[in-house]
Amino acid sequence: MSVIKDVIAKVKQTDPYQPEFHQAVEEVMESLEPTVKKHPEFVKANIYERIVEPERTIIFRVPWVDDKGNIKVNRGFRVQFNNAIGPFKGGLRFHPSVNLGIIKFLGFEQIFKNALTTLPMGGAKGGSDFDPKGKSDGEVMRFCQAFMRELFRHIGSDVDVPAGDIGVGGREIGFLYGYYKKICNEHTGVLTGKGMSYGGSLIRPEATGYGVTYFAAEMLATRNLNFKGKKVAISGAGNVAQYAVEKVNQMGGKVISLCDSSSTIIDEAGIDGKKCDYVLDLKNVRRGRISEYTNEYKSLCYEGKNVWDVIREQGIKVDIALPCATQNEINDKNAAALVKNGCICVAEGANMPSTPEAIKVFQDKKILYGPGKAANAGGVATSGLEMSQNSMRLLWTREEVDKRLQIIMKSIHQVCYEIAEAYGKKGDYVTGANIAGFTKVAESMLAYGVV
Ligand code: NDP
Repeated sequence: MSVIKDVIAKVKQTDPYQPEFHQAVEEVMESLEPTVKKHPEFVKANIYERIVEPERTIIFRVPWVDDKGNIKVNRGFRVQFNNAIGPFKGGLRFHPSVNLGIIKFLGFEQIFKNALTTLPMGGAKGGSDFDPKGKSDGEVMRFCQAFMRELFRHIGSDVDVPAGDIGVGGREIGFLYGYYKKICNEHTGVLTGKGMSYGGSLIRPEATGYGVTYFAAEMLATRNLNFKGKKVAISGAGNVAQYAVEKVNQMGGKVISLCDSSSTIIDEAGIDGKKCDYVLDLKNVRRGRISEYTNEYKSLCYEGKNVWDVIREQGIKVDIALPCATQNEINDKNAAALVKNGCICVAEGANMPSTPEAIKVFQDKKILYGPGKAANAGGVATSGLEMSQNSMRLLWTREEVDKRLQIIMKSIHQVCYEIAEAYGKKGDYVTGANIAGFTKVAESMLAYGVV
């Protein structure tokens, strides 16, 4: 067996109940096959087997009290995967589906994504199976405080710097940071995604959605295309989706869809600036369901379906797809329907939103396909910029941060494109992203010896 196949087999055998982690390892490892020949030193140092094992995995109890005085218990996780090129860095996810396998898949992806940003950040991820939906602000605060009561001892501005992810937005980061500050008695850049009044960076809330749009624009440019007049499908209705809508509108595209975990809305007239403001208020302030959009604006609502099911079932034509909800939301049938309906470009705002079979469809049909670890790296890159500003005790302007974000997204695109071409796989951004991210981390691991 090859080194790569051995590693995949060992991961499956060691942790048989972590399918999302297997999927992420398989996707990365298979595309690293050409590096085995080119870098015998990586094989000799057993980098391939070492890189799939987290540096440290922390699982902890999170007891908290609800509004009625009942004592509740959730499970907390932090997987510190790899700090070869910088402090551990990666978001926290609060969602009932969270388990160790999901956090490991996200942490593993984060290693290569962070390496691509050009900034010195290692890979980590964490979270809990706590569901913030339907909870009062007081309950969310007490949960966040209980979560930080354990997490604080494992993190630090030069050790591990968490951020948000699904279910962890500005409100949760405020509660988490406030409690860290209280018990550690220090005001430091230990979390990113902070509010502007206490150490946040301008553009951080917008960064992932803006970044995925910038990345898609770069891919389109390789075929002399752009967003102008294009019909764009976006899934999700959270942080990433909201700012992807805003940036697509600015670039001249028309967004026709959004979804949450209950339903999908289709608005063929386009979700313009005013409608986008409505979604931000609905989701971030009133914490309502996306189906309420249809009460306000002429549109269709499909209960219990995600965007990609609706596009397939209704035969809706779109030019560009930006999946921004969750993992494995696009299966092979939906991918085939997207391509059949005219889609020329898929850029992933979410982490691993396309199944391996769906990716194969996009690649076989030779449409532009930007994997999440490259296309959505703008979020963590801007978190890196927030860390820099915190260290320097400075605040850059909106324009400055946005300019840096654009430069970073351009450079990620370029390195993915060039590496893919160098390995004889022109236009294959999966190969480009995985090899570029891996090589940087592997070289650092090699330099350290066996640690
Ligand atoms: P949010 O919690 O802000 O939004 C997630 C959205 O996706 C919500 O509208 C949610 O619906 C919807 N959703 C979740 N699960 C499903 C599902 N099974 N079917 C349909 N819709 C679903 O999270 P983010 O926007 O921050 O994150 C979205 C994705 O982007 C994730 O994959 C995340 O890992 C990735 N990402 C986020 C970054 C960031 O900076 N925030 C950075 C890089 C990647 P509901 O309201 O019902 O829960």
